[in-house]
Amino acid sequence: MKNKFIQLTMIATMLTACNAPKGNEVADDFNYNDEQFADLQMIRYKVQGFEDLTLKQKELVYYLSEAALEGRDILFDQNGKYNLTIRKMLETVYTDFKGDKTDENFKGMETYLKRVWFSNGIHHHYGCEKFVPAFTPEFFRAALKTVDAAKLPLADGQTVDQLCDEIFPVIFDPTIMPKRVNQADGEDLLLTSACNYYADVTQKEAEDFYAKMKDPNDAQPVMFGMNSRLVKENGKVQEKVWKVGGLYTEAIEKIVYWLEKAKGVAENDQQKAVIEKLIQFYHDGDLKTFDAYAIEWVKDLDSRIDFVNCFTESYGDPLGMKASWESIVNFKDLEATKRTETISSNAQWFEDHSPVDSRFKKETVKGVTAKVITAAIIGGDLYPATAIGINLPNSNWIRSAHGSKSVTIGNFTEAYSKAAHGNGFAQEFVVSPAEIKLMETYGDLTDNLHTDLHECLGHGSGKLLPGVDPDTLKAYGSTIEEARADLFGLYYLADDKLVELGLTPDKEAYKAQYYSYMMNGLMTQLVRIDLGNVIEEAHMRNRALIARWVMEKGAADKVVEFVKKDGKTYVQVNDYKKLRDLFGQLLAEIQRIKSEGDFEAARDIVENYAVQIDPVLHAEILERYKKLNLAPYKGFINPVYTAVTDAEGNITDVTIDYTEGYAEQMLRYSNEYANLPYRN
Ligand code: ZN
Repeated sequence: MKNKFIQLTMIATMLTACNAPKGNEVADDFNYNDEQFADLQMIRYKVQGFEDLTLKQKELVYYLSEAALEGRDILFDQNGKYNLTIRKMLETVYTDFKGDKTDENFKGMETYLKRVWFSNGIHHHYGCEKFVPAFTPEFFRAALKTVDAAKLPLADGQTVDQLCDEIFPVIFDPTIMPKRVNQADGEDLLLTSACNYYADVTQKEAEDFYAKMKDPNDAQPVMFGMNSRLVKENGKVQEKVWKVGGLYTEAIEKIVYWLEKAKGVAENDQQKAVIEKLIQFYHDGDLKTFDAYAIEWVKDLDSRIDFVNCFTESYGDPLGMKASWESIVNFKDLEATKRTETISSNAQWFEDHSPVDSRFKKETVKGVTAKVITAAIIGGDLYPATAIGINLPNSNWIRSAHGSKSVTIGNFTEAYSKAAHGNGFAQEFVVSPAEIKLMETYGDLTDNLHTDLHECLGHGSGKLLPGVDPDTLKAYGSTIEEARADLFGLYYLADDKLVELGLTPDKEAYKAQYYSYMMNGLMTQLVRIDLGNVIEEAHMRNRALIARWVMEKGAADKVVEFVKKDGKTYVQVNDYKKLRDLFGQLLAEIQRIKSEGDFEAARDIVENYAVQIDPVLHAEILERYKKLNLAPYKGFINPVYTAVTDAEGNITDVTIDYTEGYAEQMLRYSNEYANLPYRN
């Protein structure tokens, strides 16, 4: 599972946009931001610590990163059967066109191609709707005729005109393949979805096919259908398995080649066992082998380097079975993991000193150590749009029997926040230069700490009174739970204990998070909601609940207030100490609601504070945000790894370079990792 909580937190972080380099850091001239087009912003990430890995570890990262890139075409084809053909047509015109490249049609095609690269296909990566091309079919047909036909994805004996006739409706006709994944209730989800996981099969036929396979008494069920396309051939419904010798063999063989090399430099026997099982699965395509691999992977805890390289998430299949191919290679961030270990090892102290009624406290509490990782490369369905946290494996029985690994990706978090610095957001929404300075000095640090406290302690704190059903709060449960975890973090951020533990540098730092949290909860998170709508998502509700509740309860003392300057609304915090007391009071109340299972109180507090939006304020915030011209979606450009070899071909070093541009990278990948035929 992609860690949705962390993704959402990060969006909030980005929106608070007060994440400049920490005060104690040397100024950072790394170029985080690359180009912006359509609704997308490209960002670079730094792989801190790569240089400090041993040569053998660098070699391992190198082999695994090659394996991560070899599967790129698989995802393009999974996302739609014409994607590889369309990509090749666009790329050929993009590089070889001899006409006027400043022409509106050419520029429209360029943006379209950049979006196709980003989405690994012709549908939006998030909304799933087909792109509307800002260039004409006449222009594209004429342009295709000017380039070398040998470079075009022509079928046997096909002319350029015939290729255009075949493909143009897919690009230009809005009624053809309008959605990659259709979830509309009542329609045949397979026939109306453009994804390439099923061919000539109705939803009913697919459901019947898999229903027959399932054995309700199997305590260890495999994830049926996850590694195949379901087709109907000669009237018979059958699976075409993605494996060596099967569908996608050309790409999978290349992946296996690099995995074999990686196996040779594995850090230890457990990691070697993981790689061996994965290779075996790519060969036999047997889902029992996949489960065996997943179990070995969960057990691999001591290696510095870790990776995912397989068919993994099923969000791209309307039936939620077929898994898209993805890869990430990473290594443990020792420094950041030390931070979460410090928090976890003091979990009992935090529980004992929290402001909640002692009846609701745990006698013995165990903190969770969140592992923080540094991503080295991303591929497939994690590239270039990516998750910020990952929690795998997805198999439920393996999760219960063997556990799972949950990680947050530290260098992505950092790149997001650094890239947001200087985008004008803070200048627009923060009340004065003093608060901006506060956030520039401490923002990154306290943001990470708040997330750590939320994850490592907040969710695990407190207990239900005997006999209270955990589902009592029903639809309000998740908002209350997130509020509880957030408040636990907010309350302790201001505690001297954090300075004592060396987690915060001084007694001022917490104010950065307090200010940004209030600004976000009261105002800026609203930029993600369309005018006229209410707040629905649980994390957004929880932030509104907390911010509005403490503002109201502290109103008599003007703890927090809205102020107007030049007709614009700002949040001003007047008393940080009292604000902390209010967070403590609300934590006590929210914990009571949870512990007692007080449904009425949960409903009242959520409905009164967390749902409705002041339409005047909302319109103002949207208007101010729009003027900043920020892209709502971000994606990452990978670094380039190069193996340095001696005369015998032994690797003597692996270098890393960050200068490759977006189009340059995509064209290189399309050239070096073009592993699949255009029509699969
Ligand atoms: Zn949470």
